[in-house]
Amino acid sequence: MPVTAQTRRRADGQAPGPPAVVPAAPLAVLDERRRGTRFVELPIASVLNSPAQTGMSFWSVNPYVGCEFGCSYCYARYAHQYVVERARDRGALPAAEFADYRGPHGWEAFERRIFVKSGAPEVLALTLRPARLGGHAIVVGTATDPYQPAERRFRITRRLLERLAQFHGLRVGLITKSPLVARDIDVLRRLGERSEVSVHISLIAVDALLVRKLEVRSPVPAARLKALEQLVRAGVRAGVMMAPVLPGITDDVPHLEALMRAAKDAGALWVRADPLRLYANVKRRFLPVVAEEFPALLPKYERAFDVRGIVTPGYAAALKRRMTRLRREIGVPSGDEDRPQPMVAEEACEAAQRELAL
Ligand code: SF4
Repeated sequence: MPVTAQTRRRADGQAPGPPAVVPAAPLAVLDERRRGTRFVELPIASVLNSPAQTGMSFWSVNPYVGCEFGCSYCYARYAHQYVVERARDRGALPAAEFADYRGPHGWEAFERRIFVKSGAPEVLALTLRPARLGGHAIVVGTATDPYQPAERRFRITRRLLERLAQFHGLRVGLITKSPLVARDIDVLRRLGERSEVSVHISLIAVDALLVRKLEVRSPVPAARLKALEQLVRAGVRAGVMMAPVLPGITDDVPHLEALMRAAKDAGALWVRADPLRLYANVKRRFLPVVAEEFPALLPKYERAFDVRGIVTPGYAAALKRRMTRLRREIGVPSGDEDRPQPMVAEEACEAAQRELAL
């Protein structure tokens, strides 16, 4: 039997969904900013990535491909590149526009050509069967930020949460760098009445100048901490995800301690940390930033990661010890049980491939 989008979904435990939809030429432009950022419709065949598909311990949903926040260490550029190439191959993206959807170095368009899965809430409502989740959580925003600027206009994350709030007994996690999440406190509370909800505010440091060197357009740390405080005060379970921890840049005790204390003051129910994963596609964007902003660190970055882009076991153990000691001193739990693992670049790409049923 040929493997189609439908058979793949059934094999992955999801209910048979609507017929697969493939992009039609050309991509529909939904909106465009004055500075040139363009938002285009991405028709999807499915919206939930299963643990079997990603190798992760949870289901994942990503309402957008691409992200205007433009963090230099972001690993999701690979998935954007894949979506662009497949759109071209299927005739949805004319060859004349292909370069524009890549950028001069192949990564810039990730930040200014944003794919929008407008149909995601409806597809989710049609295909989600809680009994088939196998007790695993659903995590929103594993590959791109679900509250990036596009969400103000398109409200897909909000509509996804509204759909999830119609179900009972789910475990839902959400990862974001944006204070826009506080807009949806009402839905998160409603969702929390029937299901378990955890919001992870992603923050690498409290030093705004340092953050701006590494994240081109992300919300300032103070705004993220304020949103965290609003969430916790409203009764939404929320904590801080310090990810990625950047060797030699944000991994020293003063940086970690300042962030952990600020998180505690904002009411964080947990603080977690994960070291940078320097995948090949991350290197292309991130190492030039290291070379410009932290030139003395460049040779160390070229040595400190293995061929897969993972920090050495010695570094990981030392970071863990440092975090454990700081948590004990400051009095913040780790929240291990709430922890979604980020999707690695290859998994994000494969997930995008399956979502599109291409
Ligand atoms: S906010 Fe997340 S998805 Fe967006 S650029 Fe930064 S790391 Fe990537």
